[in-house]
Amino acid sequence: MERALNEAFQRHVAWTSDAPLGLVVESASGPYLHLANNRKLIDLISGIAVSSLGHGHPEVLEAIRAQVNRHLHVMVYGEFIQRPQAEFASLLAANLPPSLDTVYFTMTGTEANEGALKLAKKFTGRTRIIAFDGSYHGDTHGSLSVTGRSVYRRPFEPLLSDVHFLPFGDIEALEAIDNRTACVITEPIQGEGGVRVPGFKWMRALRKKCTSSGALLIFDEIQTGFGRTGKLFAFEQFDVVPDMLTLAKAMGGGMPLGAFVSSGAIMDTLRRDPPLSHVTTFGGHPVSCAAAVAALRVLLRERLPDRARELERQIRSRLRHRAIVEIRGMGAMLGMQLTSDTLASRFVNACLESGVLVGWTLHSGSLVRIAPPLNIPSTVLHQALTAMLKALDLATQDQSRNHG
Ligand code: PLP
Repeated sequence: MERALNEAFQRHVAWTSDAPLGLVVESASGPYLHLANNRKLIDLISGIAVSSLGHGHPEVLEAIRAQVNRHLHVMVYGEFIQRPQAEFASLLAANLPPSLDTVYFTMTGTEANEGALKLAKKFTGRTRIIAFDGSYHGDTHGSLSVTGRSVYRRPFEPLLSDVHFLPFGDIEALEAIDNRTACVITEPIQGEGGVRVPGFKWMRALRKKCTSSGALLIFDEIQTGFGRTGKLFAFEQFDVVPDMLTLAKAMGGGMPLGAFVSSGAIMDTLRRDPPLSHVTTFGGHPVSCAAAVAALRVLLRERLPDRARELERQIRSRLRHRAIVEIRGMGAMLGMQLTSDTLASRFVNACLESGVLVGWTLHSGSLVRIAPPLNIPSTVLHQALTAMLKALDLATQDQSRNHG
């Protein structure tokens, strides 16, 4: 049975690298992944910042079941009034500033960014897009065009042509934003780029420059959103409101769902000249939206953004080791900078051996990511942290033995 499964994975499922983790998942519940052969992992990466309520939260499952019994897909996005979409959009708007009150649903994060970039071009009538070195916005053509790592863009060029990259966090470089700029897209905290937090002054200067030049400011909160950094949205950490917000990952409570959010006035641009200028079949799938309503209600009721800050305190105070150069990030979106790529890879493997799943980033081999479910019980977190400290001991011993 296991062999047939492995063979199917080897032969028929497309791989994204030569070394996938290849673990067989039987089920998942709360902070745990249950694997074949009775192995169990504590999940400290949450499917990369998705399972903020843990796996299979009962209220999310119940909402999914109820919606499945009502209806699945009924019509392309935007035509019918679908209860879960309307309910989720108004719940989201109630928790955002008044200028972010109109939600366009997608399936994924990269599609949310595609929609936001198109909307900015159409609304401003400009073509230039500014993005930042080290950013990650997704892998479709538009999102890849604004992703700040040339190694990932190069094989797919030519991409969008009028895109310019600035150094992340550099105030002087913001002078490049001018009245030819349609939009500036940034993650408030870069995730895949190595969990990099920009300065408050830079954020304020960015907002000011966008306002004065008429460029729309897009915050990609696909990873930072829904409580992960200790506020419902990371823009609240910087006291800066973007013109557009893109969301996905944790939003659907484990179901695929994305969105770009803006004001009614900006969003109306997509209604006409021509009508239907941006459409999607599955955007805002009713089952995903029903799950999202339940997930957001739980997140707010249980004050999980506050819990993210508490997790950060616990992790920072326990995770001390000579191999850790620094811990970057905010709330439950943290990156442990280790001394080398080899050490990081040994550490991740040693953690796996002892039953803890930690993350890696696409762009930085010596950084190990920690993004636990926000409701992970403290006892489980501490068990994981103890295992991680042991894994660090083991990985550094191996390293010095190999060097000696
Ligand atoms: N933007 C950010 C900041 C992300 O972290 C990701 C995914 O990791 C994306 C966009 C792309 O989202 P998706 O994989 O749902 O297309």
